[in-house]
Amino acid sequence: MDVDLSEKTALVTGGTRGIGRAIVRALADAGARVAFTYRSSTEAAEALVDELEAGDTEALSLQGDVADFDTAQAHVDTVLDRWDTLDVLVNNAGITRDGLMLRLTEEDWDDVIDTNLKGVFNYAKAAYRPMMGQRSGSIVNISSVVGTSGNAGQTNYAASKSGIVGFSKSLARELGGRNVRVNVVAPGYVQTDMTDELSDDAREGILDAVPLDRLAEPEDVAQAVLYLAAPAAAYVTGHVLHVDGGLSM
Ligand code: NAD
Repeated sequence: MDVDLSEKTALVTGGTRGIGRAIVRALADAGARVAFTYRSSTEAAEALVDELEAGDTEALSLQGDVADFDTAQAHVDTVLDRWDTLDVLVNNAGITRDGLMLRLTEEDWDDVIDTNLKGVFNYAKAAYRPMMGQRSGSIVNISSVVGTSGNAGQTNYAASKSGIVGFSKSLARELGGRNVRVNVVAPGYVQTDMTDELSDDAREGILDAVPLDRLAEPEDVAQAVLYLAAPAAAYVTGHVLHVDGGLSM
């Protein structure tokens, strides 16, 4: 896809590995200045900044927990101080704490909701005023097939991911008049550290249900994000783009 995001600024949460890293790279390849957040992997963050700068991308890494409200505000302020605008926000950071309800703890619930759902609120809230003021912006939130289909053992994760859909559609309605678009990408099962935890049986079961007969690569998801971030999607808002090989149809 030929996308030109030169002179645009993007911020991606959880950018050092997996899907987030592929999104960072896709935005950089399209010419954007890219900031990304990470929680603890300083070495990976520094290596990614070096790699991006070697490819002539202006890059910035920001450490912090997405669940922390003030950290999100500080990250957005840092991006604005450096580059004056924030054109694209990708809320990608997410975790799983799986278990059947019988065994799921309050902590498992809170950790997942705070990271996956409150994290999206925190960064969208911080980006809200600057994007409204600019009268342009694209927010892309990463949900999951589990948010629409549900999955035994993932009540907390499914609640967070379907919460993202309701949140995004509501925000799309609030911000549409200011030309700020809010969309969702809902991946199926993607080959990352998160799915490395799947048993062989679970993996086989998933593949049986995926018409395209493979797990997604992080780049499959990144290309969908790139489309929604780009001018090509100027009339697309409040949409949930399923990138799941046909799993959820
Ligand atoms: P991953 O575990 O490989 O990466 C997650 C990233 O989020 C990491 O960089 C991690 O450091 C960051 N992160 C986690 N908690 C954080 C916190 N509190 N503060 C800051 N950063 C934090 O996972 P992934 O597979 O690349 O998943 C990325 C997103 O895609 C997640 O939202 C996930 O729910 C979603 N997703 C993944 C799959 C899949 O099959 N892998 C499927 C559907 C949706």
